[in-house]
Amino acid sequence: MTCTSKRRDHDAPARALEQWFAVHQRDLPWRRSYDPYQVWVSEVMLQQTRMEVVVPYFTNFVARFPTVAALAAAAEDEVLAAWSGLGYYRRARFLHAGARFVVSEYGGRLPESADELVRIPGIGRYTAGAIASIAFDQPAAIVDGNVARVFARLFAIEHPLRGTPLLAASWAYADEIVRAAGSPRALNQALMELGALVCTPARPDCASCPVAVHCEAHRRGDVSRYPLAAPRATAIDVEIPLYVVRDSKSRILLERHYGARMSGMFHLPHGSSALLADSSGRFVAQGELGSFRHTITHRRIVFRLVEAEPVARVADSPHEQIWVDHAALKSVAHPSYVRKAFALLSRRKALQPPRRNFE
Ligand code: SF4
Repeated sequence: MTCTSKRRDHDAPARALEQWFAVHQRDLPWRRSYDPYQVWVSEVMLQQTRMEVVVPYFTNFVARFPTVAALAAAAEDEVLAAWSGLGYYRRARFLHAGARFVVSEYGGRLPESADELVRIPGIGRYTAGAIASIAFDQPAAIVDGNVARVFARLFAIEHPLRGTPLLAASWAYADEIVRAAGSPRALNQALMELGALVCTPARPDCASCPVAVHCEAHRRGDVSRYPLAAPRATAIDVEIPLYVVRDSKSRILLERHYGARMSGMFHLPHGSSALLADSSGRFVAQGELGSFRHTITHRRIVFRLVEAEPVARVADSPHEQIWVDHAALKSVAHPSYVRKAFALLSRRKALQPPRRNFE
């Protein structure tokens, strides 16, 4: 890789970060043993999900699948059910596929080097660097959003947030600084922790920062300039009808969809193709039950719940189907909007009375 950063002496900031981490690190479950499998699971869960949300999911997940071999042996539905509510379900599928690969290729033990780790399905450059450094204390670079923001300020990088040039410059700096570390494990976690706790997006706490004396943005008195603002992504507003079809026991019909979004999960049938296949031709609307807001990436969605009946036998659907009540929902792999819909229906007692038998 071409190094785009200027050569610097990183020894002093690396030392300051490691010492700061030793004192200020948060007590997180995967930091108690640095078990490579647990580090892997935590890193996958933390992609696109906040720490406080991840911790209970992580604890449950590793209790249910305590080793790579246990995860590899599980059925995909079990894994997706344990992931339900975390979102971005492709992560769970890749983790599962990765576990099977590690069992077949490495006898269930994760390899130590980032170069070997990127061979595993679902493990990219960031996750490989995180596992190699955090689990095995290898001098492997990591860059995520937090680290890129810290570097943008520390080195006053003149590239906009979320762009490829900022990432390329950050990877070059990350590679240099981790090689200057006494402990890559401590250094990389310190960078991530600094970004999460001190060098935060809106209000960096420079007075508490262990690398303030090395920080170029701070030296210039221009911290708010970095990282340079990214061009705004345009938000899209969409409205999606959700069909609520109930059986004689008041259970609700869910259908499994495969494809790019929320693949393999059970969904309420949609009356629009904004997210999933449009199922409106298979149902007749009977009346509105309420609506709720939900955001998926840049889509701001209003989901409208519609009481509905099928136009043909439900069993004629092209999708795998199940009938589920509120209590049984947690054992079914589903995206979080389905849980919101069930909660709304439950609050309005709309699960009663039972409907005709459509099975
Ligand atoms: Fe971030 Fe301020 Fe520390 Fe610079 S001094 S790295 S801007 S918290």
